[in-house]
Amino acid sequence: MKRILVTGGAGFLGSHLCERLLHDGHEVICLDNYFTGFKKNVAHLLDHPGFELMRHDVTDPFKAEVDQIYNLACPASPPHYQYNAIKTMKTSVMGAIHCLGLAKRCKARVFQASTSEVYGDPAVHPQPESYWGNVNPIGIRSCYDEGKRAAETLFMDYHRQNGVDIRIVRIFNTYGPRMNPDDGRVVSNFICQALRGEDITIYGDGTQTRSFCYVDDLIEGFVRLMNQDQVTGPINMGNPGEFTMLELAEKVISKVGGSSKLVFEPLPGDDPKQRKPDITLAKQHLDWEPTISLDDGLDRAIDYFRSVV
Ligand code: NAD
Ligand code: UDP
Repeated sequence: MKRILVTGGAGFLGSHLCERLLHDGHEVICLDNYFTGFKKNVAHLLDHPGFELMRHDVTDPFKAEVDQIYNLACPASPPHYQYNAIKTMKTSVMGAIHCLGLAKRCKARVFQASTSEVYGDPAVHPQPESYWGNVNPIGIRSCYDEGKRAAETLFMDYHRQNGVDIRIVRIFNTYGPRMNPDDGRVVSNFICQALRGEDITIYGDGTQTRSFCYVDDLIEGFVRLMNQDQVTGPINMGNPGEFTMLELAEKVISKVGGSSKLVFEPLPGDDPKQRKPDITLAKQHLDWEPTISLDDGLDRAIDYFRSVV
C-alpha cells in the first residue's frame, strides 16, 4: 500500500484516478483548487478511510509525506485554460516545480500529465514521441501548450540533475463520465447539444481530426506507466482511431436521435488540423493499448450525460 498525492484530483481524469488508486488499496490525498473540478466528482470517495481531500492551489507550495505523486492540476479545455492564460502558465510551471521539489524531498516517484498539445499543429502524422512539435509560442493556445512543454523540461531536468524518479505521459483527447458538460470540449459539447435538442456547433469546416480515448483505458495506462521501472517517458497515450469532427457529430446524432442540425462557427485560432497518437512505445513497454472503441465509449458517455443534463 502506498500513500499517493493526486493534484487536480477533483477534475475529470483526477477523480477517476483517485477512485482507481483507492480500489487498488492505496491511500489517496486529493488536492484541488476547484477551478474546473468539483467536490461532487469525489463525493462518493469522501467516506473511504483511505481518502483525504484538500483545497489547495498548486501555484503555492505544499507539504505531504507521500510515495507517489500524480500531477494533473491544470485546466484542460481551451475556453477554461484561456480564461486566465497567465494563471494557466503559472499552474503548469509552478505546479511542476512544487511537485518535483516535494518528490525530491520525499524520494517519491512523480508523474506529469502532459499533452498531445506539445506537438502543436503537427507536421508529422501520426505523432511519435520523437517529434518535437510545431507550437506557436505567442498564440491563444500557447499558455497551455508552452506551459506543458516547460513542465516536461522541468521534469527532465530534475531527473537528470537531481535524480528525481519521473514519469511523463502525453495524453491525447480523452472523454467519459464526469467531464464537465459546460467546459467546451468537443465530445461533451456535441453530446449535451444533441441531448438538449440544440444545434451541434462545428468549428471551421469540421474536417479537422482528433483521436478520442475512453477514460478507463487512459487510467489503466497511467497506472501501468507509474508501476514499472523501465521507462520514464514521455510516452503517448491515446486511442489511435482518428475521426473528423463531422464524423463525430454524425455518430453522436445517430446515437442520441432527435432533431439537432449542424451549425458551422469560426475555427478558433491555432486549432490543430490533425492529431493521432503513435502508441508503439506504450505497446512495447507497457503492453498497453486502448480496448474501448469510440462507439462503445460514446454509448457510455451518453448514458452518463443523460443523467446530468
Ligand atoms: P479538468 O479540468 O477536469 O481537471 C483539472 C483539475 O485541476 C480540476 O479539478 C481543477 O480544479 C484542477 N486545477 C486547475 N488549476 C489548479 C491549480 N492551480 N491548483 C490546484 N488544482 C488546479 O481536466 P482533465 O481533463 O481532468 O485534465 C487533467 C490533466 O490531464 C490536466 O493536466 C490536463 O492538461 C491533462 N490532459 C487532459 C486531456 C484530456 O483529454 N482530458 C488531454 C491532455 C492532457
Ligand atoms: N470543436 C467543435 N465544436 C465544439 C467544440 C470543439 O467543432 O463545440 C472542435 C475544436 O475546434 C477542435 C476539436 O473540436 O478542432 C477538439 O476540440 P477540444 O476543445 O475538445 O480539444 P482540443 O482542440 O484541445 O483537441
